[in-house]
Amino acid sequence: MKIWVFAEKYTALNELCRGARQLGERVEGIIVGSPEGVISADKVWSIPAQEGAMLEDYTESIVALVEKEKPELLLVAPTKRGKLIAGRLAAMLGASVSTDVMKLTQDGEAKRMVYGGTAVRREKATTPTAIVMVGPGVLVVSAEAATSQAEVATVDFIEPTTKMKVISKEQKPKVTVDLPSAKRVVGVGRGIALAEDIAMARQLAEAIGGEVGCSRPIAEGEKWMPKETYIGVSGLMLAPEVYFALGISGQVQHMVGINRSKVVIAINKDKNAPIFKQADYGIVGDLYKIVPALLNQLK
Ligand SMILES: Cc1cc2nc3c(=O)[nH]c(=O)nc-3n(C[C@H](O)[C@H](O)[C@H](O)COP(=O)(O)OP(=O)(O)OC[C@H]3O[C@@H](n4cnc5c(N)ncnc54)[C@H](O)[C@@H]3O)c2cc1C
Repeated sequence: MKIWVFAEKYTALNELCRGARQLGERVEGIIVGSPEGVISADKVWSIPAQEGAMLEDYTESIVALVEKEKPELLLVAPTKRGKLIAGRLAAMLGASVSTDVMKLTQDGEAKRMVYGGTAVRREKATTPTAIVMVGPGVLVVSAEAATSQAEVATVDFIEPTTKMKVISKEQKPKVTVDLPSAKRVVGVGRGIALAEDIAMARQLAEAIGGEVGCSRPIAEGEKWMPKETYIGVSGLMLAPEVYFALGISGQVQHMVGINRSKVVIAINKDKNAPIFKQADYGIVGDLYKIVPALLNQLK
């Protein structure tokens, strides 16, 4: 199977390319601009960057490439822009898109959550090219996956038929954590009473050499952490060695994002919290007492 990968960021592109090795014999990447650093693919298709162009403006160029080269699978990293471009590609190519994919098999079958995470659907595209939106961390990356530099082919940029103009740009606060690559993650949930108490989770993360993520309400509701750091069906899908869940109830939409963790340690004051059914270690109690005690021990 010939698999193509498109991602805005090089880390995601590389991780998807390396994961795609488990699914097909040939892996090729699509990038905008010239490659910066090593890309773990057999070939890279480089579309020349255009001044002032938005990512969506490269859709026509990608469509022309896909129509010519006919990859069977096109993996797209599920960023906001990625979602926009995947929709456009699907419409122009007449291809189907599977979003929020949690598992992808060699025969192209995708498993994804439906009904807000209460059911899992298996689906397989019947179109010649299937577009699958899959996050870094979902595909298993084997240690021996190739990291050699790919052959680079520069292709023509095709002017989009409909264009958007950037009127202004505003810098967002930078997210400095790289949760998909973190081996240890401390997840913060609504059991945390105040934004400033997240410092306690950061101390725990620091003590174990990890990073801090959160449940959706902490990012989308309280806005105490950046949206890019929430874990679950509509956020990040992680597979760390250790996941600490602090004051997280364990709803399916969150658990989907962490159920590939090797060890899950949950701290929750409610002994009936669903998270305890999936945790390897559970501590029933007030996180405001347990986390300082753990920090003390770790010191
Ligand atoms: C379509 C859809 C998509 C969604 N996607 C996501 C997603 O991607 N990620 C996600 O996280 N959620 C997602 N959700 C929301 C999800 O259903 C839950 O509402 C959310 O995960 C709950 O977050 P929580 O566990 O932090 O909060 P809660 O469910 O409110 O749990 C808080 C927990 O903290 C415990 N607690 C309280 N105080 C303390 C204390 N002092 N010490 C110890 N424990 C304490 C409580 O016992 C409770 O179990 C989605 C929902 C929908 C409908």
